[in-house]
Amino acid sequence: MRKKIVAGNWKMNNDSAQTEALLEEILSKKRDNATAKIVVAPSFVNLQAAVKQTAGTNIIVAAQNMHQAESGAYTGEVSVGMLKSIKVNTVILGHSERRAYFGETNSVLAEKVNTALRNNLTVIFCFGEELADRQSATHFDVVESQLREGLFHISATDWDSIVLAYEPVWAIGTGETASPEQAQEMHSFIRTLIKNNISETIAENTSILYGGSVKPDNAAEIFSKPDVDGGLIGGASLKADEFLAIVNSMV
Ligand code: PGA
Repeated sequence: MRKKIVAGNWKMNNDSAQTEALLEEILSKKRDNATAKIVVAPSFVNLQAAVKQTAGTNIIVAAQNMHQAESGAYTGEVSVGMLKSIKVNTVILGHSERRAYFGETNSVLAEKVNTALRNNLTVIFCFGEELADRQSATHFDVVESQLREGLFHISATDWDSIVLAYEPVWAIGTGETASPEQAQEMHSFIRTLIKNNISETIAENTSILYGGSVKPDNAAEIFSKPDVDGGLIGGASLKADEFLAIVNSMV
């Protein structure tokens, strides 16, 4: 059975004190019986403290990125081993901001995915079309190539370590959300693609999150769609009350 997940991508926000305070508030206000698993992704420099702060709780701490090489002369980068050494076992890869501002291509992402999986990390793999793609009705093709080129090469057993996050770029940080119907249409397309190219069981068991301006007032409707298994939340994950309202929208 696939998992329900709500993940907060804090991006380049929150210094050390702010990270601690936000986590503290989430820890003290979260419901123990929430349906969705909670993931938070603070910046690299705050990961170690966040792992310590959440020890013994069911909150999962994820990194927002990592380098594809295991180690070496890559000034400014962070390796999978460094993440594992501080007990970070989940990484977001392929976020549209990484693709757009840092030149991450599908082939670089395929390497990152391989490195993460070889080291037993869980990968939250992000992808999604730009506005121009949707306007020219090529959004399904774009998403299909992102998945084929970045992910579909992995082995059947490695799919256990994959969470998908469909994030239409035009809906990220814009206040514009895909309608619940548009989200469902794409999620269903993705699940069918996995079924036809990988296997029916893997298609059924893979969680597909939606991301892009999910807020407390639209989360329940988006999450009610049969192929939407949760959300990847940016802006609204920076306030504990909003984030938890979204978490609690998952039934
Ligand atoms: P947003 O960001 O919720 O602020 O649109 C989503 C994301 O980038 O993951």
